[in-house]
Amino acid sequence: MLQYAFTKETQSLTHVDEVPNGKLCQCYCPACDDDLEAHNAGRIQAHHFKHTTKAERRACLMTQLHLWGQHYFHNAEQFMISAPVISYRNRIIDQDKFLTIKPTASLLEKRMGPYFADVHLQTDIEELVVEIKVTHACEPEKLDYYSHNKVAAVEIDLSRFSDTPISEVEEHFKEHDMVVEWIYPYGKEQAIEQHLIKLKIERQDAIKEATFNAQKVLRDLPAKHSLKLPALMVNHKPISKNQFGDNDVSIVLQEPVKATFDQVDLTRTDEYFLYRCTIGQRAIHILAYFESEPDVLEQLKNSILVLKPNSSTLSWHRHARYAELRQDRVIEWEAIHAVKSEISSVIGEAISSFRGNDYFFKQGYGRWRNLIKQNELFQPTVEKKNPPIPDCLRHISKDYELWMFDAWPVHVATELIATVDSRPETEFTFDDIFNLLCLQFPLDPRYTHVIKLMNDNGLDPSTQGLDSRSIILKLLRAQFDEGWLSIQENTWVRNRPKVTMLKQLYRFETPRY
Ligand SMILES: [Zn+2]
Repeated sequence: MLQYAFTKETQSLTHVDEVPNGKLCQCYCPACDDDLEAHNAGRIQAHHFKHTTKAERRACLMTQLHLWGQHYFHNAEQFMISAPVISYRNRIIDQDKFLTIKPTASLLEKRMGPYFADVHLQTDIEELVVEIKVTHACEPEKLDYYSHNKVAAVEIDLSRFSDTPISEVEEHFKEHDMVVEWIYPYGKEQAIEQHLIKLKIERQDAIKEATFNAQKVLRDLPAKHSLKLPALMVNHKPISKNQFGDNDVSIVLQEPVKATFDQVDLTRTDEYFLYRCTIGQRAIHILAYFESEPDVLEQLKNSILVLKPNSSTLSWHRHARYAELRQDRVIEWEAIHAVKSEISSVIGEAISSFRGNDYFFKQGYGRWRNLIKQNELFQPTVEKKNPPIPDCLRHISKDYELWMFDAWPVHVATELIATVDSRPETEFTFDDIFNLLCLQFPLDPRYTHVIKLMNDNGLDPSTQGLDSRSIILKLLRAQFDEGWLSIQENTWVRNRPKVTMLKQLYRFETPRY
């Protein structure tokens, strides 16, 4: 429906409601030049122009849409439009999603080099070209012209509105619902300038903060000539693995130490503080920098500690004795690691060759049964001639971690309890009771070997559960109610010495036998 047309008098785009009714309107179709009559008095039909001698063609409507689009921007006091993406050095500069544009002057069909711009707007920031797309987009050469000459330009695509009444298109525009394609961003130079100012301020703030931080962290240096030197470490990955779990470690080459210097000299620039500290003939540099690593770092000799921007800890950049310390400590560490690997393999072998339940059951059940009978813990009946394994000992029956006794763990645990019961007044240490057990169950020589290796190399057997305490607790584990035993660091105490612990073994099972 044609609602806009040109007036013969002014050649300007006019709405049907702004002209006299009928042929008095003095308007013609901008596409086919046909005279029009205005139908703008009716109350039922929408107001429109009617061609007088030709048929209204689609081209007439397309031209109307294009012209309306041009005039919308040409006449707008201001409008909102999706902002272009502006990037600077491959980074997108954050900005608002929408731009508000307030034109100060506007021209239609302004000549731009060899081209004509649909609408050319002047704004307080820069010129802006608006191209309206209805049936065809701007030709690539025109796009290139705008981009190349850095003319802010945008194409508004109205093609989706080809069958929409203009009044509805206008509603979309009022809601800023436009299909917008930026050819060259509006306000690009200004946005970059503001971005650079913002970066500069951020950088200045960061330097200021880092400078303040360095003064705080290093405050004792100018005041007391003292500084806590951090530990010197090396990351080391051993060639072989073992079950001690130290397969990727940091080895300490030098513990942290508080140093006091004879003399402290400061070189101060906008980029860094550089302290030269001396003790006798030895010198150490402390470099605190505020932004990126300064070139001076690579020019310094001797030991250097650095304080990175806003870090609270110093780190070694170079240590004069690093190579020497590293050599010694890594060799030392590897030696211990080799011992650990040997221990791991001996233990692994012992565990895998542990003969297990069936073998020991045959070997140990007879002796164990006698022990149970002697202590009158079991009454044979016709149905049950032999004592069953009490529930509370079943769980250790196949415990391969008790490989060192080379015996049936049920038997070992029962003997342990009987031994303790036989000396009700004695307070045992774990070592005592372990030694007593060893008299009855000679230790696997591999256990003795492993313990010797550990002792010789300063390794703690408890880390592998091989100390007397760990072993005894494993044998006793969960066999007694709390309250029967108090486990101390090195000793264990019977809380109710007059009741034999052995009787506890079958306590819960008594009703069944
Ligand atoms: Zn026409």
